[in-house]
Amino acid sequence: MHLFSLTCTDFAAALHQGWGKGMFHAAAIYRHVFKQGNPDLAQVPELAQAGILTQELQSAFNVSSPAIAAMAVQEGVTKIVFSLAGGLRVEAVWIPMPRRTTLCLSSQAGCRMGCAFCRTGALGLLRNLAAEEIVGQVYAVRHGLGRAIDNIVFMGMGEPLDNFDNVAQAIRVLSDQRGLDIPHSHMTISTAGLTDGIRRLGELGWPGLNLAVSLNAADDELRSQLMPVNAIHPLAQLKQALQDYPLRKKGVFFIEYVLLKGVNDSRGHAARLACFLEGLPVRVNVIGCNPGPDCLFESPGEEHCRLFCAWLAGEGLFVRMRSSRGQDINAACGQLGGPAH
Ligand code: SF4
Repeated sequence: MHLFSLTCTDFAAALHQGWGKGMFHAAAIYRHVFKQGNPDLAQVPELAQAGILTQELQSAFNVSSPAIAAMAVQEGVTKIVFSLAGGLRVEAVWIPMPRRTTLCLSSQAGCRMGCAFCRTGALGLLRNLAAEEIVGQVYAVRHGLGRAIDNIVFMGMGEPLDNFDNVAQAIRVLSDQRGLDIPHSHMTISTAGLTDGIRRLGELGWPGLNLAVSLNAADDELRSQLMPVNAIHPLAQLKQALQDYPLRKKGVFFIEYVLLKGVNDSRGHAARLACFLEGLPVRVNVIGCNPGPDCLFESPGEEHCRLFCAWLAGEGLFVRMRSSRGQDINAACGQLGGPAH
């Protein structure tokens, strides 16, 4: 069993079953590992006093985080390549900002959504990450590299709602106050628009968790070309799922819109986007495409991105233009899955 896949309550149940101990010892171990960042169970003082055989626990509970295979830094943005069992590699990106730091996590090795502008999509789905591999990315960055992490975004490799159960369990572990203690309000799930996943997420009753939708086009024909998932979950279905979603009071959805030159960046596209979003509480984030190697698309450039934002603002939308940091190390949106050079 891997400790990183267990909440403190799950862990207490396992300790009770195997060793007749309960929450007191579970919380002590959990604190030692997750808060103090020390995975050596032999150094938990409460264990020695309780006469529990540390060796037994060490062989019963894995506390290792994924190995860091490579890192690349550009203007503080750090791309971290993890090596997983089976030789697979996934990537996380640590992004320092003036008032907070964000870790962008991977939830799958590769992705089967096949978005036309995304490098990860070109890999296809290699496999889902286990909950402990998702939590392990956070653990390795916070405790292994000693980096502060305020926010988590599931915007790295993979579609998080396509690996629903493992992502949900990882969120339970990450937010456990006796451990890593990252509140739901500091986490964002970003989806390509899997409507059944959005509905399941709503059923979990986590109103604080942020939901972002990667939209990129507001008409079905164009969106299906850019994001094949739209053929199965078309825009009307997506809008209905968002309308039914139990948002918290004054909560908003984050709408991600990657601008692709000559494809989805005209005045008419902005008007259609505004029309689609009518009635939904949203914040729109517009970002220029990051053309990596082999990318079919180009960014329309900063000036046009500003103009597109102005069109949306003119339609009454709250819009922000996002900078795409980390482009030179292939750590920007849509670029994960290639070499860190
Ligand atoms: S943009 Fe996201 S959902 Fe689409 S292929 Fe890339 S990783 Fe998958």
